[in-house]
Formats: sequence, structure tokens, C-alpha cells
Amino acid sequence: MPDVTSITITIDGPAGAGKSTVARGLACRLGIDFLDTGAMYRGAAVVALMAGINLEDGPAIAAAVDRSRLRFDWDGSPPRLLIDWPEALDISRRIREADATKAVTPVSAQPAVRAAMVQRQRAIRDEHPQIVTEGRDQGSVVFPDAGVKFYLDASPETRACRRALELREAGREVDEQQILEGILARDHADQSRADGPLCVPEGAIVVDTTDLTLEQVIALLDEYVKTARAQAPRSRPADP
Ligand code: C5P
Repeated sequence: MPDVTSITITIDGPAGAGKSTVARGLACRLGIDFLDTGAMYRGAAVVALMAGINLEDGPAIAAAVDRSRLRFDWDGSPPRLLIDWPEALDISRRIREADATKAVTPVSAQPAVRAAMVQRQRAIRDEHPQIVTEGRDQGSVVFPDAGVKFYLDASPETRACRRALELREAGREVDEQQILEGILARDHADQSRADGPLCVPEGAIVVDTTDLTLEQVIALLDEYVKTARAQAPRSRPADP
């Protein structure tokens, strides 16, 4: 159970289920921090691309990520993603480019990269004890002790349609069938990955967002969090 001074809320789920937007909206509504773990994996992919490292060489990528001090600048809203290259470089936009999106699949499958990211995510949570964290392994692997765990899902067609809308709004031409195929391929890759595969975490509240608007999903999650907080002890018992 969460107490009122520290709360970790995890949101897991497949590509295009709306995790990022929902997590950001929920964190904003609750007035707490939001951790975008996909951005961290994208950051590792960008470091690998910039350094010319083989995308399957996990130990070399993890070492380069460490050297570059991949980190969030929490003063920004949303927090900016920075690396030292050699001076501080803002890669918040760079990580959304097509080559980074392609490279992140092999990079995020490397155990050495995942181990480094999991360690960083736990350190971030320690520094930000009230946090909504979003990704494919947050409730299952990284924070199995989270106070509230959600698993967001939606039909593949709905997820493809939402992604297409997002891209169209950003002025991009889209082929919805191609997006659907991409989503199905990513589902398969994420679910069959040996390390940190996508799954419903134990104790997670599963929310099917297919027929819900963004606002409805955020309001629903907020209700669950409020209930959990109301049931939480006011303070932690003193250490023996
Ligand atoms: O959420 P986003 O699409 O930005 O994530 C990019 C990629 O990073 C995903 O496709 C997935 O392969 C990987 N990822 C991961 N574990 C996480 C978050 C993202 O493997 N916790």
C-alpha cells in the first residue's frame, strides 16, 4: 500500500495503448513527477547511432550510455533528455526521429542495456518518491513493489488508429495498415523478448481503453489512485 508522502504508480502496456499521454496526464493531475522510460531506451539508441556502435552490442552501448551521462533535466516541463557529447546536448527531439525509432527495438532487447536502464530508473524513483512511471516492464520488473500498478490495453486497430491520428496531427502522411503491421510486430517483439518481456504485472489493474477517451482513462486511474491513497497508512511504521 502506498503512503501519502511516497507513491510509485506504474503504467505498463503495449505500443500505442496511450501509456505516455495517460501517464503524463495522470502525473499532472496528481501534481507528481512523470518518468518516460521509453525516452531512456530511445536515448540509448541515439547514443549507439551517434557513436557508431553495433546495435546488438549491449555491453558497448551500456558503457557509452554511462559515459554520456544520459539523464533528464527535471527543470524542464516535460523534463529534457540530455547527454554529454562532449558538452550537454538536448536529444529530446532527436529520439523521436525515424532511425531512433527503428534502432530502439534491437537496443532495448540487449540485457546489458536493460540492466543499466533498470538501475537508472530505480535511482530516479529514489530521488522522485512521488512518481508515475510508464513503460513495458515497470510494474512487472522494475517496481514490483509499486503502490498502484496499471496495465493499459486497447485493440490493435484502435492503437493503430490513435497513432495515425497523432502522426497526421504532426503533419505526417500515414498508411494506417502499415502502422497496424508495425504495432503487431512490436507487440510480438516486446512479448517474446527474453529479458523484461511485456506482460500484465502481478496485482495490476487492467484497463481496456478501446472505448474510452483520454480524459475518461485519466479520470478512472485517478479514482483508483485516490482509493489506494485513502486506504494507505498516514505514515510508515518506525524502523525497529
Ligand atoms: O514508449 P516508446 O515507444 O517511446 O518506447 C520505445 C521503445 O523502447 C519500445 O518500442 C520498447 O521496445 C522500448 N522500451 C522498453 N522498455 C520500456 C520502455 C520502452 O523495452 N520500459
